[in-house]
Amino acid sequence: MTRQLHAAIAGAGIGGLAAAIALARAGLRVTLLERAPMIEEAGAGLQLAPNACGVLRDMGLLERVEHFATQPELLRIRRARDGAELSRLKLAAAAEARWGAPYLVVHRADLQRVLVEACAGERAVSLRAGLNVTGFAVGKTGVEIGARAGGDIVRVDADFLIGADGLKSVVRERIGLGLADKPVWSGRAAWRALVRGADAPPFALAPETNLWLGKQAHLVHYPLRKGELVNVVAIAEDPWRAQGADDLWSIASEPADISPRFANWAPEARALVGAAQEWRRWPLFDRDPVQRWRGDRVALLGDAAHPMLPFFAQGAAQAIEDAAALGAAFTRRGDDVNAALEAYQNARTARAGAVVIASRKQGAIYHMSGPMGFARDAVMRRLGAGRTMQRLDWLYRRPTEK
Ligand SMILES: Cc1cc2nc3c(=O)[nH]c(=O)nc-3n(C[C@H](O)[C@H](O)[C@H](O)COP(=O)(O)OP(=O)(O)OC[C@H]3O[C@@H](n4cnc5c(N)ncnc54)[C@H](O)[C@@H]3O)c2cc1C
Repeated sequence: MTRQLHAAIAGAGIGGLAAAIALARAGLRVTLLERAPMIEEAGAGLQLAPNACGVLRDMGLLERVEHFATQPELLRIRRARDGAELSRLKLAAAAEARWGAPYLVVHRADLQRVLVEACAGERAVSLRAGLNVTGFAVGKTGVEIGARAGGDIVRVDADFLIGADGLKSVVRERIGLGLADKPVWSGRAAWRALVRGADAPPFALAPETNLWLGKQAHLVHYPLRKGELVNVVAIAEDPWRAQGADDLWSIASEPADISPRFANWAPEARALVGAAQEWRRWPLFDRDPVQRWRGDRVALLGDAAHPMLPFFAQGAAQAIEDAAALGAAFTRRGDDVNAALEAYQNARTARAGAVVIASRKQGAIYHMSGPMGFARDAVMRRLGAGRTMQRLDWLYRRPTEK
């Protein structure tokens, strides 16, 4: 009988949790090491694109996610200054028919809850919260992970380590991708808010994802939890980069910082921005794509591997795709750890890198102004829904379905 492999995963965000489920289903034992003292309700809304929903369906989790999620009927793109509609894509049944899985929006905490419950349902997964991974040492037969728990130093032994520890990954730093491998600041920030449905202007409660394009800024909003909340994300050029801030989720921002940026926008957009009381501000970083996500008995996953700008709303979706690919690699490669990690890396780097680059380009397109903005609006109108949807096929169809 072959020995059951033991995986340690640094980070229990969406990527780490999904990877734990996928590895457990591939027959491995998994220990998740999370620096936060508990997996808390965090963050705001997430768009879950069809490529992510397809993976969740394969994992048997889609129905549970759908229980909490909203399925928008439309993606509506508007011009900021007057609210004129530039394009509308039919989602719901049309998305499912075209891309093989639904397009959903969900509160991040609800998705996290589904993933945590699924981990709890796997006897092979254990979650150790309050452990801050500080480094690792690779030996002939395994990896020794060092972590801090309050004032104590803790050691965890495993056959391999997955670094799912986010943008500022300690595991990535230790793999040694060179001095040039640093987060790249975009010069933009995202402000996020959840508006109570009762306080939101009625148009914002329609089951739609709305994207407003303005001068060097854009706005995205959609209802969550059956209209109990409206998720609002405002993205604008911003010189502030919050260097050194560890917890990028928790930087509060005053409404007065945001409202002036939307002063020349259509009244509907201003009403929604004005209805938000509590904003979080988030400097936006990505990294240049790399071909190597692994070392001996170690590999990266999710934002640790391919942090991206949120303009295609794909960061979590790509982390979920990574998790499925990692599980599949171990299913195929059995207990040859490095062969499985190599297969995982080969399956994922090109696709995730392409999404990083496409997200950068999308940001530039969204923020065009003057004649360029005028031309962009004209192209969007001319393309129409059919061709715009076609342009998303590479992204929303899962790679295996191509
Ligand atoms: C404004 C904005 C909007 C977005 N919208 C979308 C969207 O609509 N759809 C979408 O798919 N994506 C979206 N994203 C991207 C998405 O949020 C991320 O890509 C995704 O959360 C990455 O998940 P992750 O698990 O890889 O990393 P993270 O969520 O960063 O999780 C990392 C985990 O590791 C833990 N950790 C960190 N260091 C250590 C350590 N040393 N030891 C132990 N634990 C550690 C952290 O506490 C955390 O729990 C958005 C991002 C932004 C900024």
